[in-house]
Amino acid sequence: DIFVYRFEEGHARGDGSQKELLGGKGAGLAEMARLGMPVPPGMTLTTEACRSYLEHGFFPEGLEMQVRQGIAWLEKRTGRGFGDVDNPLLLSVRSGGARSMPGMMDTVLNLGLSEDSVEGLARQSGDRRFAYDCQRRFVQMYTSVVMGVDDALLEEVLVRHRRRAGVDDDHDLGWEELFAISEAMRQKAVEVTGRDVPRGPFGQLWGAVEAVFRSWEAPRARAYRKLHRMNGGGWGTAVNIMVMVFGNLGDESASGVAFSRNPATGEARPYGEYMIATQGEDVVGGRRSPGPLGMEEEQHGGMAAMERLMPEQYAELCGYMQELERNYHDMQDVEFCVERGKLWMLQTRAAKRTGQAAVRAALEMCEEGLIDEEEAILRVDPKLHLERALHRQIAGTPPEPIARGQAASPGAATGEIALSSERAVERAEKGKSVILVRPMTSADDVEGLHAAVGVLTAQGGLTSHAAVVARGIGTPCVCGVGELRIDEDKGGCYVGDAFFEEGERITIDGGSGKVFGEALELNDPTITGELKTFLKLADRYRRLEVRVNVDSNEEAEMARKMGAEGVGLCRTEHMILESSEAVRAMRQVLLSTDWETREQGLNALVDYQRQEVAQILRTMDGLPVMVRLLDPPAHEFLPGTAAGRKSVAKVLGISEEAVGWRVDALRETNPMLGFRGGRLAMVYPQIYEAQVQAIVEASRQVQDEGVRTRVEIAIPMVADPGEAGHLIAVINDAVARHLYGLSREADVAVGVMVEVPRAALLAGELALEADFFSFGTNDLTQLMWGMSRDDASRFMEAYRDQGVLSEDPFEILDRAGVGLLMRQALKQGRMVYPQLAAGVCGEHAGEPHSIRFFEALNLDYVSVSPYRVASSRLAAAQAFI
Ligand code: PEP
Ligand code: MG
Repeated sequence: DIFVYRFEEGHARGDGSQKELLGGKGAGLAEMARLGMPVPPGMTLTTEACRSYLEHGFFPEGLEMQVRQGIAWLEKRTGRGFGDVDNPLLLSVRSGGARSMPGMMDTVLNLGLSEDSVEGLARQSGDRRFAYDCQRRFVQMYTSVVMGVDDALLEEVLVRHRRRAGVDDDHDLGWEELFAISEAMRQKAVEVTGRDVPRGPFGQLWGAVEAVFRSWEAPRARAYRKLHRMNGGGWGTAVNIMVMVFGNLGDESASGVAFSRNPATGEARPYGEYMIATQGEDVVGGRRSPGPLGMEEEQHGGMAAMERLMPEQYAELCGYMQELERNYHDMQDVEFCVERGKLWMLQTRAAKRTGQAAVRAALEMCEEGLIDEEEAILRVDPKLHLERALHRQIAGTPPEPIARGQAASPGAATGEIALSSERAVERAEKGKSVILVRPMTSADDVEGLHAAVGVLTAQGGLTSHAAVVARGIGTPCVCGVGELRIDEDKGGCYVGDAFFEEGERITIDGGSGKVFGEALELNDPTITGELKTFLKLADRYRRLEVRVNVDSNEEAEMARKMGAEGVGLCRTEHMILESSEAVRAMRQVLLSTDWETREQGLNALVDYQRQEVAQILRTMDGLPVMVRLLDPPAHEFLPGTAAGRKSVAKVLGISEEAVGWRVDALRETNPMLGFRGGRLAMVYPQIYEAQVQAIVEASRQVQDEGVRTRVEIAIPMVADPGEAGHLIAVINDAVARHLYGLSREADVAVGVMVEVPRAALLAGELALEADFFSFGTNDLTQLMWGMSRDDASRFMEAYRDQGVLSEDPFEILDRAGVGLLMRQALKQGRMVYPQLAAGVCGEHAGEPHSIRFFEALNLDYVSVSPYRVASSRLAAAQAFI
């Protein structure tokens, strides 16, 4: 078997399409090499080798020999010797899985160096400080990554020596100090692990390769895969071994990262950061503030741009990025290095970008002819780029900010300060919005970053860990705030002189980089400019209609702005729960003991619902509006406390005791399977009749104002065609009674929710009764799996962790089971009644994988939460393409 794929400028065994085998980094290096770009020669150890290693605990047969042959080839290419005391060949060893996991896997640079050869490197380069800087970096990375010594211990050594030398920046440490630091770190490692850093180059190399392989299984890598639902795959990571090129070889050297377009805005201009006289990890690790790539980005008092200091290399780099874009038809993110004036390309991959950037870049790449319209539509991720990235903004004119940093990931966020990831997770679980405030973040903070609504850091630029992760998950982030200082001992942080305790509320705006010392009011997102253009384009490729689930007119208004094409579900029980008066009326209906009081309650409910429904009909202006009749677990409306019972008793004019009896009588062992939906109307038809009256009157009222209405009335939780027929007759009677001259066919359709498996099985008979089906996939999933939708998450993790289920059926529609039943139900229903209209209104309706399935089923519409309307428009277009 071939486990080792070589590459060098002009040639490569592999190519850019082999991400599964070579990992993203290896495939990118092979592709750049093939394109003739200056890539240091090297080799990629395949993910297959990693899988074999993880399975057996040792390298597969042939791997070591192939690597040794590769090293001999590199020695020949460079004229240096691996482990040679006078002229050492140094290597970088870096991991790279098929999908990028920023900061997750590990890197060792300057491998091959030892106490014996460091002087040789000094002579070879003519720069002793450089040689010892390499030595220090190697020892630090090796002891940390390969030997597992705690980073904090190593950092301590560094800080101690810096202090002793009286410098802030490693850049100012002399070679003697660097040597002392390496020695101290090595000793620390011996102390902690009982082992020494190998002197022999191959010992170092095998150790590093094993460490990279093993890092695939590291807890934080697993946590990342879990968070990103990258489960089920045992695909492992590749290892890239490359000849070192040195960005730290004096002031004519640098390393950096660059994007072919701006990753925050999408603007078609190279964007990036670099640092003179450093190795790559310093830039990506966010420890120091780097300089900008282009002169337009230069900041007053900041570091000069690469374009100014290294104009030739800058131009060359921009040229390569353009070529890579043409080659990949996508925006790229590259790592590069300049060694004594010569540019080297170290990595390329599709750039992570904000929603704004994704949309703009897709549109512009389409205009530039780089991609076609369909490709442009596919380039934007509905969930990542639209759903989460349609950000909230500060309402009105904001006050003076208390500090400013880099605008790293757009959107405004308000929340309480959390100084650690643990704290952020803990508070978020309690339902609090938190802003994670850290000096900087690392891979250990991933869970905290996910739990937070916003991220604020003191150090690091746009490519720092915090910025990259926050952009990736669409969380607002401001980083590199110079005035921010975290004081763990005092349990808070300083912004300038002002002190904020942990738990105090602040606001950040990741679009402008501003920080505010108070909780500000935020506005919901709107669709404007490029996003509007983009969604219009997507709409041209979409068949499924996108409706919205709303419980109030406010939501309906917001949904229309997002492009909703109707209301696919209005849950009237939610509508009632939003008003304390309506709740009181509802209690009157459920708890009263005499007809008169009950009727009063019903009348109040009719009044309330008439107004609410009329508002929604006005807002939807002729678009279809589906109103669902009551589906309460009745207990949700009952007074839970003694005080509540007392007040109900007063309203009803009966004793508290009597209220208690009624409450007891209505209490259910299993409310989800209890007195819900149509069953309620089997016992109290008056409730549905009153609701129908409210809906029909609302429709009449709005029509009288000259606004068209299209009303659909749905019955929830039906289980039996006979039951459906009976209730539909009750409703039709009520419609007829309140209609006065409106054309029933044109304006009021009566249908059923298909959400009980039995109803779905008998769909053919059901379709004889109903004008439409609305699939309630929440209940359908709950009932088919026999798992409570409110509690399933407690045990669902166990299924995921053990690889038994790869998806949560409450999140992504279970196509195999629930989907199968839906398919059959729809087929039977349309066999009986070919014009049968059918949509989905469960939470799955707004989830892209499920939308793909609904498109294939040939449903008419999906009805989604208001904040998912825009993303579902895109997902539906992608499903159609
Ligand atoms: C459903 O069950 O999928 C549904 C839309 O109804 P609800 O969530 O209100 O039960
Ligand atoms: Mg339901």
